[in-house]
Amino acid sequence: MKTRISLPAQMAIGMALGVAAGLAAPSMGFDTAWFKPIGQLFINLIRMVVVPLVLTTIVAGAASVGDLSKLGRLASKTLIYYFCTTAVAVFIGLFFANILNPGEGLNLSTEGLKAQAVQAPKMMDVFLNIVPLNPIDSMSKGNMLQVIFFAMIFGFGLSAVGEKGRTVLSFFEGCAEVMIKVTNMVMIYAPFGVFGLIAFTVASHGAAVLLPLLKVIGVMYLACLCHVIFCYMPLVKACGLSISLFFRMLAAPMIISFTTCSSAAALSTNLIQVQKLGASRPVASFSIPLGNTINMDGTAVYMGVVAIFVAELYGIPMPFDKQFEVILVGVLASIGTVGVPGAGLLMSSIVFTQVGIPLEGIAIIAGIDRVMDMARTSVNVLGDATGALVVSRWEGDLDMEAGARFAAEEGE
Ligand code: ASP
Repeated sequence: MKTRISLPAQMAIGMALGVAAGLAAPSMGFDTAWFKPIGQLFINLIRMVVVPLVLTTIVAGAASVGDLSKLGRLASKTLIYYFCTTAVAVFIGLFFANILNPGEGLNLSTEGLKAQAVQAPKMMDVFLNIVPLNPIDSMSKGNMLQVIFFAMIFGFGLSAVGEKGRTVLSFFEGCAEVMIKVTNMVMIYAPFGVFGLIAFTVASHGAAVLLPLLKVIGVMYLACLCHVIFCYMPLVKACGLSISLFFRMLAAPMIISFTTCSSAAALSTNLIQVQKLGASRPVASFSIPLGNTINMDGTAVYMGVVAIFVAELYGIPMPFDKQFEVILVGVLASIGTVGVPGAGLLMSSIVFTQVGIPLEGIAIIAGIDRVMDMARTSVNVLGDATGALVVSRWEGDLDMEAGARFAAEEGE
């Protein structure tokens, strides 16, 4: 008889205990700062795996694609998916904020609050920056776009040299396997890490901070949920996959993103789980790391919600043309958002500046940002996974039976 509790279930238990501990600790006089290192250790462990895992899987994946035109097709399909779903995400955020008016009737003082604008990067610089001057430096800094670029070129070179590259290819394939094993080892600590992260968040975001802004938090969660229901679920169904299996297999990356608020931290598990769900290795190894850096649907939902929220707070009218601008700039700002906690909050200043919303609004939402970040990061990660499945299906190499096979084997 099987008595082992599955990893996602262990993580869910860690989360529940973390909520309880976070609620109880302050009243018991327990120094809640102790929760922080427990969570930070987990974040460090999972981030440690990211660069070597991405590098080795992309090299092995690109070498197995072998042909540049196939890669071009794969890249265009992936980018089309990203742009469309991200634009839908901002729209959904705007839609719910427009009908539920989260900022109406609120009277919050903005005296003494200040926030700095983030400059939108120039398009040309963004493109030029994809090419690393020194690939080792990009790896050490964790600059994922540069790592992806170098790994792809390297993988192509490897397939082009044929027989001579055999040993190097098996080296990278072997390393990719090892990094998957290392990720699984690191995940043994996940339930404890999740406990520490959630306990710290709950302890430091008491009811006093959350209650006045409960409505905007509710609108954000509702909009995120609808994006998942109306955008991802039909796409997963259209791929011929079972929705419940999809969520079961992606439970681990979702819990990691929810508790760490960092999609970069969830990258490795997402990459592994999506392949277990049937996405092919070339597609997954390309689109998951790329999506992790540029596909941020949850952040896009958030841009729509907070733009309307802060505009309502200040009584600024938001006619149709301004909302359309929010969609355009929101998509770009979300692409520029990096997968770390709070990045979306800073990037929302680009949207605010564009449509003339005071930047002090950012300071108002900063207090509740962590709670909103939990939702948007989970959607960011789920969006990348859905993208890998959609593109894999579009390429005709999705293994539709894989998920059920793995679930049966692992009891997930
Ligand atoms: N925390 C988000 C992520 O890691 C980014 C954001 O702040 O919106 O995906």
